[in-house]
Amino acid sequence: MDKLIITVALTGNVPTKKMNPNVPVTPGEIAADVRRCADEGAALFHVHARDEEQRPTLRLPNFKANVRKIKELAPQVIIQLSTGGRAGMDWEDRVNPVRLLPEMASFTTGSNNLPGIVYENSPQFIEYLAKVYQQTGVKPEIEVFETGMINNALHLQKKGYIKPPLHFDFVLGAPGAMPGSVKNLLFLSESIPAGSTWSVAGIGRQEIPLAVAAIVLGGHVRVGLEDNLFMPDGSPASNPLLVQKVVRMAREIGREIATPAEARAILSLNPAYKDRILDML
Ligand code: ZN
Repeated sequence: MDKLIITVALTGNVPTKKMNPNVPVTPGEIAADVRRCADEGAALFHVHARDEEQRPTLRLPNFKANVRKIKELAPQVIIQLSTGGRAGMDWEDRVNPVRLLPEMASFTTGSNNLPGIVYENSPQFIEYLAKVYQQTGVKPEIEVFETGMINNALHLQKKGYIKPPLHFDFVLGAPGAMPGSVKNLLFLSESIPAGSTWSVAGIGRQEIPLAVAAIVLGGHVRVGLEDNLFMPDGSPASNPLLVQKVVRMAREIGREIATPAEARAILSLNPAYKDRILDML
């Protein structure tokens, strides 16, 4: 079994400090949390941006400010920028984080319901975004909310827009999308091409149980306040506490934790692309 890659989804678009005071929103807070989580064992960081009022934004200056701070405090970690639609649905706005040339960015290859919204990723938009991945060489993390999104990704691979080995993240347990059962996780993990890598992002209460399942199944784990605000005992979570818990459980079971360099190798990231983003800031 590969060593375990721990991803942290630090902030997301929805959580506020009112919901949990530990949600990092400013560039300084986000980078400090990255440093703390990296010290605990996390290698990969899924990064969103907030504006000065702490509202979700896709504006590049806000992304750049986050990346600058992260590179300053934790230069070795893998940065994955979000192309999620909750901060706005404009195509260019959503594609621009990929054009900043992070090592990775997220890529949801289909539409589904989420609380209060349709999370729309039309076939036209998906193809447009896929072409930007092709042009930039940025590695997509394919966010799978339901099974059809795997097939959509394979279709894009067939057309030559995205290259194997693919990396999938199964986002399970969001109201409106695929429920967060171990059965669903097993089914999805067996539905991707051999040689692919995968992680799971369990939403809410599913976060820690699905992390355990992924550790045992040989997948990787995403945790963080974007997906879940509480520890299993109901107390407020923080990003470092969630990472600590995953590391502890993995060690109990005998699964080792991947450093950022080891994670790069497992994910087949091009080492020459590690710091391309620095020239874009
Ligand atoms: Zn996200």
